[in-house]
Formats: sequence, C-alpha cells, structure tokens
Amino acid sequence: MSSKSYIQIPRTSRFAIVGAGPAGVHFAHLLAKQGFNNITVLEADDHVGGKSFTVTEGNIPYDMGTVLLTTSTYGPVFDLLENEDPENKPVPFPDSPKKNYCVIMGSSQTGVSDKDNKTFTDRRVWSLKQTMLDSVPAFLRPITPLMFPGIKILLAARRYRALHEKIFGGKFKYGMPPSPPSDWSLLNMTALQFLEKHRLKALIAMFRISVQLNGYGVLESIPAFYAIWWMHPDLVDQSCRAHLQKKPILFGTSKGFQHLWETIAAKLSVEKGVKFLVNAPVSKVTRHPDSTATVEYTQNGILGNLDVDYVVMAVDLSKYVNIIPKLTSVESKLFTTQYTSSVYASTLYKSDPGPFEFPMEMFPDRMTPIAKFDESAGNFGHCHTYRNARLMLRPRPDKGNVTWGPDALGRQQRVAYQFLDRPLQDAVIEAKNFTQKLRGDFEIAGHSNVEIKVQKTWNYFPRFTQQGLIEEIPWKIKEIQGDTNTFWLGSSLTISNL
Ligand SMILES: Cc1cc2nc3c(=O)[nH]c(=O)nc-3n(C[C@H](O)[C@H](O)[C@H](O)COP(=O)(O)OP(=O)(O)OC[C@H]3O[C@@H](n4cnc5c(N)ncnc54)[C@H](O)[C@@H]3O)c2cc1C
Repeated sequence: MSSKSYIQIPRTSRFAIVGAGPAGVHFAHLLAKQGFNNITVLEADDHVGGKSFTVTEGNIPYDMGTVLLTTSTYGPVFDLLENEDPENKPVPFPDSPKKNYCVIMGSSQTGVSDKDNKTFTDRRVWSLKQTMLDSVPAFLRPITPLMFPGIKILLAARRYRALHEKIFGGKFKYGMPPSPPSDWSLLNMTALQFLEKHRLKALIAMFRISVQLNGYGVLESIPAFYAIWWMHPDLVDQSCRAHLQKKPILFGTSKGFQHLWETIAAKLSVEKGVKFLVNAPVSKVTRHPDSTATVEYTQNGILGNLDVDYVVMAVDLSKYVNIIPKLTSVESKLFTTQYTSSVYASTLYKSDPGPFEFPMEMFPDRMTPIAKFDESAGNFGHCHTYRNARLMLRPRPDKGNVTWGPDALGRQQRVAYQFLDRPLQDAVIEAKNFTQKLRGDFEIAGHSNVEIKVQKTWNYFPRFTQQGLIEEIPWKIKEIQGDTNTFWLGSSLTISNL
C-alpha cells in the first residue's frame, strides 16, 4: 500500500473507511486480516460495490460498471473470487476463439458505414485491416496479404516490451509502476504520439480496442503514461498469443462483480465485526491535533459522528477530496491542482432484436478525440459499445457463427456505453443528454421498441494531467500514506489496481 516499508499501527486503532467501493471493501478486508478489530465503512449509496454495479435478471448479471478481467493482469482478483466468493465463477468471454463474438461496426475507414446496421467485421479481422491502414504505406496495401500486419503486430509487441522496460528501469508485475520514469521525454506526449514516435503504429488498433473502448481515454488525448500502464507488456503479449492460439483472455463472472464485494462485506461483518453503514454519506472529516479524527455523516436523515484514529479516503478523490475541508498544503497540491476525469454513461435497456445480435458490438470511430469536441453541434457522446450479457455468458453460435441461437431471438437486453472526455458536471442533466443521443443511436442499430431500464452516469477514470504526472504526483501520494492519520485510496483505474 505505502511506499514506506512499514507503518506501525496498534491493532486496537479505530478506522473509518469512507466509501464501500472495491477499494474500501478490499482495504477493510486487508485490515481485518491483519487483526484490526475496530473498522467502520461508510457508504453514501444504498449498497456496497461502488462502480462494480450489477443488475441481475433471470440469473443473468448485467454489469453496468466493472465488467471484465484479463488473465495476465488480474491474478489477485481471480484469487479473491476463488477464496472469498467461490460461487461466483470466472466465465470466459471467447472473443478470440469464436468468430463474430465481438464485432466492429461503423468504422468508415475499414469500409463499414456508421449508418449501416447490417455490416460488421469480426474484431480480429478489423484489427488486421486497421493495422494495415495504420502501418503499411498506401501503395503497398493492394499487394500486401492480411497476414502481414499480424507479423508487424508481433514485432511491435517485442519492441514495446523492450521500451517499457527501458522507461521504467526494468520488469515489474502489472500495477502502478513502482517508480516514475527516469526520462519523461520518452513519455511526455499523448498515447497516439507515443505509438507513432516509437515506431509502434502496428499496436494502434490493439490500443484503440483495449484502452479507448474500455473508456481509459481517447488515444489522441490521453497521456501516454496511462495507456502503457494499462497495456502492460504481458497483456500485449497475451493478446497476441490469444489470437494465434484462439484462447480467451477476457473473463466476466457468473454472478457479476458487485456480488464479490457484497459477499466480502457480508463475511467481514459477520465474522470480523466490521460495521458497514450504507445510505450514510460522509459530509465532513475533521482531523484533530491529538491525531484523532471526527467523521460526520447522515444516515436516514439523522446526523452521526464517529471518532476514529485513522481515516481511509476510498472515494473518487478527483471529486470528493473536499470532504476534508482542511487539507495540508502538501495534500492540497497533490489532490486539488492536477486531477481530471471523464464521463461514462452505461444504460441497461430492452428492445426487439436488431438485424444481427452479437455478444459485443463496438464503434471505435465514435469516440471523438477531444480536439474535435463540439458539444453544441452534438458530435459527442455517441454509443460506442453494446454488450449483450446473455450472449456473452452463454454463447451458442449456430452454423456460420453469425447468429447466436435461440438466446438471440425475442426481446434482447443490452448495456450501451457512452463516453465524454471531460469530468462529470451535473449527473441528472448529463443523463438526459446521453439518453437523447442514445435514442438516435438505437435507430441506427435497428433496436426498436426500446425500454430503458437503468441508467448510470459515472465520473470515470479519475487521473492526473500530463503536468501532474511529470510532477510525479502518483508516487508522491505513496509517500504521504498514513501521514495526518489518513490513507488515500482514491478511485483506482481498474479493480486490479486496488
Ligand atoms: C462503466 C464502467 C466500466 C468499468 N469496467 C471495468 C472493467 O472492465 N475492469 C475493471 O477492472 N474496472 C472497470 N471499471 C473501473 C472500476 O469499476 C473502478 O476502478 C473501481 O470501481 C474503483 O473502485 P473504488 O472503490 O476506488 O471507487 P468507486 O467504485 O468509485 O467507489 C467509491 C465509493 O465511494 C462512495 N462515496 C462517494 N462519496 C462518498 C461519501 N461522501 N461518503 C460515503 N461514501 C461515498 C461511492 O458511492 C462509491 O460506492 C469500470 C468502471 C465503469 C464505470
């Protein structure tokens, strides 16, 4: 947790954890394992799980937040599932072995019109075609076999690993790089500039799908640091191998991600006496000179005060750090000057089946780079991905691998994702705008008689600006863990970073 090798804390210390998302629940779990026995977790919402949010219907979990794991980078989460929530099994998403499991729609560059709801390209084929466009000169394309971009991807993956090790001074397991890069000039640019500058254009298509379409920023604007953090060389290698060996690397879970955190919380409460207060937003944390703190919250309209020795801020710090009105000057510099985030909307809806039904449909060209944003013109926030959890978890392709058997007949329920490259402003107004945009996209997709069931607008992917990264804020936060009796967990990039 901390870069300090050891923080000595008496086991009887009183802890208040603000936020029962994955980070807060996991931290409570770690504290209880260490023998701490006075832990209270306060959650503003009416349930634990934070952005791991699942709506379950007919035994199908529709994950509207955290949705997938990858084998190479999520080892600790697989362990947590196995040990703490064994009924919640990892389920492979056979994106690689099964043709047309994930399809690319609306990519005009590769010959599919955005308005055409009947033309699609299997993701692997799209990746090869797109890599051809990204990395093979136009005059050579007509005589270049489609296998050639595949070889370029493999060679680029090898160069990428070497560069990654050079930048971070060696190998490390997936997670936040243990120390900042020694030479920021290799990284002081956007993700796209990074791939272009370092002769890695053959990886652009892979990054578009894995980084951009997961909402971790548009390649044209996201700092290169975040793209190469998420795209650990092990993940890049494994993606290449998965395509060659036709093995799945993506997994969902049979009961959804919220179930994992709820199960851990329930066990902690029964077996370790950890108190979970839901519907209990914390309004203020006051840290006293005698190294104690008072946490003020409301539950069912009643004000509550909790006196503790340690406060754990397991909330999105880009939005909620001001729960502590008196920050030290160091904290203030770290948490209030260089934070930014994006808006992500996920909408669960039901409709008549479209012309085709696939487990995952993606529109990479619909995630507009920030430079092209014009909100008044409305060219933003289009739906970029549809996920049909029933097909994802129970794929049964029939002959020709195009339709998905009886599960794809009748009313279909999917989650639609929309992205905006700026922090969340007013969740209610934003939701209205997103819905309006989405209705137009449903028409293009041929999804008729739509019933919107649940919509969430998230402040998503809290992160530091390029300047904040150069100032090495993420590593400086590690240095202050435990100071002023406060721990800072923030809202992590993915649950594998907890
Ligand atoms: C649409 C979407 C898709 C995603 N897909 C993936 C994926 O496939 N794989 C992956 O690994 N990750 C994914 N993520 C990211 C992952 O969900 C987050 O990294 C993770 O939830 C962060 O956990 P956290 O506990 O740090 O923050 P959060 O999940 O944001 O939890 C913070 C909690 O704090 C509570 N809170 C806020 N203010 C207060 C207050 N004043 N008092 C009390 N409580 C408060 C909130 O209600 C919330 O429950 C996705 C996220 C979204 C939104």
